Amino acid sequence: PVPRQDWELHHENIELGKMLGEGAFGAVHAGVLTLKDGTSKKVAVKVHKGKAINKELIREICKEARTMRRYKHPNVVAFYGVAIEHEPIMLVMELISGGSLDSYLAKNGNMVSVSERISFSFDAAKGLEYLHDRSCIHRDVAARNCLVNDGRVKLSDFGLSRDVSAQAKAYKLKNLKQKLPIRWLSPETLITASYTFKSDVFSFGILIWEIFVYPKASEPYPGMTAAEVNAQVKAGYRMEAPENMPSAVKTIMVQHCWPQDPDERWSMTNVRKGFEELVACNSSKKSR
Ligand code: ATP
Repeated sequence: PVPRQDWELHHENIELGKMLGEGAFGAVHAGVLTLKDGTSKKVAVKVHKGKAINKELIREICKEARTMRRYKHPNVVAFYGVAIEHEPIMLVMELISGGSLDSYLAKNGNMVSVSERISFSFDAAKGLEYLHDRSCIHRDVAARNCLVNDGRVKLSDFGLSRDVSAQAKAYKLKNLKQKLPIRWLSPETLITASYTFKSDVFSFGILIWEIFVYPKASEPYPGMTAAEVNAQVKAGYRMEAPENMPSAVKTIMVQHCWPQDPDERWSMTNVRKGFEELVACNSSKKSR
């Protein structure tokens, strides 16, 4: 069969290999995708574990796949397409060898220099700016949703993979009373349950905190329960900056990502520019 769109893939062209991890959507495998011209490439495949795929969900998936197929940026995990002819639904994307940023930092934390941490933050800022420029609100910016490849960070788990896993999570929420990612949410998201570009900027601030704090703490707001975080963040409480965080990074995080009023937060373009200056400053120091 000939695909109608370039993002419509066929199950028979996807070969599953080793399992890499598991999320709400289902298992993630390394795999090989055979392209129309007969060539093949290594990919990552998310295999949907849910059964109840209805027409509405398929329509949503197709719409989102069409949009995501157009996203091409070095700091955003590339999306190749989706196989939806029969179950299980498979999402096919760029294979990122290094795994997620949170596990990378937990494992290599002591060896990661401050300038590398600035570079990770800059990468994530460029990726999120790119998504925002295309009207995509990520809604789950966190170190666990960044992947690492050869010292570069790429954002993942946005758009389709997030929407579908959010459905699975909402389902889980009802069934297992699973928690929302409270520790990454902005005060207004905690209050109104709505997401905006500026709530992504707040979560980006939490991501910067994670990048600089590892491997000392496993989660934002160490020592506080989720209920305490919920109440305190709404009331204006913010975390201390990690010890090794340069003051210029602290300023971006505290003054430009975490204001209570979303309008006072920077756009991701300004955040990216802030890190660009720091990276330039670091490399001129090194070359001196
Ligand atoms: P959830 O889906 O519930 O948000 P999650 O983000 O941990 O959770 P997934 O995005 O499904 O779940 O990913 C699970 C694991 O699979 C990741 O932690 C990572 O190790 C691996 N993984 C995901 N995407 C890729 C990829 N493109 N390349 C390589 N490994 C990946």
